[in-house]
Amino acid sequence: MAVRVGVLGATGAVGQRLIQLLEPHPEFEIAALTASESSAGKTYEQAAKWRVNSPIPDDIAEMTVTATEPDAVPDDVDLLFSSLPSSVGAEVEPPFCEDGYVVSSNSSNSRMADDVPLIIPEVNADHLDLLEVQRDERGWDGALVKNPNCSTITFVPTLAALAEFGLETVHVATLQAVSGAGYDGVTSMEIIDNAIPYIGSEEDKLETESRKLLGEFDGASLSQDGVEVAASCNRIPTIDGHLENVWVETEEELTVEDAKTAMTEYPSIDLRSSPDQFIHVFDDPDRPQPRMDRTIGDGMAIAAGGLRESTFGLQYNCLAHNTIRGAAGASVLNGELLLENGYL
Ligand code: NAP
Repeated sequence: MAVRVGVLGATGAVGQRLIQLLEPHPEFEIAALTASESSAGKTYEQAAKWRVNSPIPDDIAEMTVTATEPDAVPDDVDLLFSSLPSSVGAEVEPPFCEDGYVVSSNSSNSRMADDVPLIIPEVNADHLDLLEVQRDERGWDGALVKNPNCSTITFVPTLAALAEFGLETVHVATLQAVSGAGYDGVTSMEIIDNAIPYIGSEEDKLETESRKLLGEFDGASLSQDGVEVAASCNRIPTIDGHLENVWVETEEELTVEDAKTAMTEYPSIDLRSSPDQFIHVFDDPDRPQPRMDRTIGDGMAIAAGGLRESTFGLQYNCLAHNTIRGAAGASVLNGELLLENGYL
């Protein structure tokens, strides 16, 4: 029987992607949709300005959106996918967990908390058992799991593939799509014919989340990886797909061929939404490109290319679909991991 799930922040950019991915999902059944007080009480079709490239599913269009509070969500819902602004997530996610709900969240609040697993299943699925520590410490029947920021998800898999060479320093410059800022994020007057070399708090997320993701969990606590990461984040006028330029210095010698092999052979994971080939490596130096390559593996794969030697170690480019692999798809995958590991 399918697990009954809800979407918190269901009317937003990520919430719509979540509905698109969850509605046909055989393991999950959408049973609750929540948003702000101004949407509560409306049908989903009335509340959401639907912008995803497939129609609103009929049964979803007719569902009533509720307020985002535990009493408004049916008790037989086990799993909640959260795509709330982080200030709202910080306030409402803990009470849901206290009430017994398992929450798979996109929002940035609590991502760096010591007892909250921050997961990319293909990279650090073993960190999920940090939930035992979380439940002990917080006394929750439910649980809180996070996926990283969309720009972190784009480059960390490539680092995980290169970790066997001993990561020392990483420099990353991002070219991030406008959908990453949400529908009300940047206006057309700001972004058309332009690039904005600043995204609030983003650089810090790449620098800190990557060390947590690559860290080791010993069954009781999580240690951060020692790699030094410096990030520079830019918003550009693409719709979807974050492209990133990366320079990696390693302890051991790392040739271009070694790096290509390590990325190509880096394993995927046996979960429904994980792609068969996790990292696609292009030989063509002008790939990957957002418009052409963001939907590889149904938007769940990472693409890399332009691998070359540089003064600052190995240099390459990588790309991921920010609202699928970087957000909605990432939390659906974490939901599948929770199910697989008996947390639901
Ligand atoms: P968004 O389009 O602005 O959607 C926000 C959602 O939260 C809407 O459903 C909104 O409902 C609801 N909401 C707003 N204020 C609320 C309140 N006080 N109480 C309850 N619900 C409230 O944002 P988004 O782009 O989907 O992003 C959602 C979260 O995912 C953010 O934390 C963001 O940082 C994170 N994220 C986004 C991306 C991306 O690529 N977009 C990637 C990774 C992570 P109403 O419609 O009723 O206002």
